[in-house]
Amino acid sequence: MSYDTSNVFARILRGELPCRKVYEDEWALAFEDINPAAPVHVLVIPKGAYVSLSDFSATAPEAAIAGFFRAVGKVAEELGVTANGYRVLANHGPDSHQEVPHFHVHILAGRKLGPMLAPQR
Ligand code: AMP
Repeated sequence: MSYDTSNVFARILRGELPCRKVYEDEWALAFEDINPAAPVHVLVIPKGAYVSLSDFSATAPEAAIAGFFRAVGKVAEELGVTANGYRVLANHGPDSHQEVPHFHVHILAGRKLGPMLAPQR
């Protein structure tokens, strides 16, 4: 899948759309999810153009991968959620219900999050 430069997170990165920024460094931007699923729901995105985790892990330079995942840890630290706990989640592709085709991880926290998935039917 080729990268769609008009996706909403690309537009946020270019400053064309606003976001509620919580963290930014050379490798990553973190902002509040517009439709939170938990009291803390922050998205962390790499600054490069990667469609998903598979694309990012296969094609990003090692410095970008290290910088991104260090940023995820820093964001969790700065959000103050490491003591009580948090969940990091990334969707890739249609079965996962990935909506935005720019790689991102969700950081969810602030309440008991329950089991990771609903039971299989
Ligand atoms: P995913 O299903 O993993 O692709 O998640 C996409 C997430 O992006 C959803 O949780 C949306 O609520 C969130 N989202 C979509 N548009 C925006 C936006 N403009 N600002 C912040 N979050 C957004």
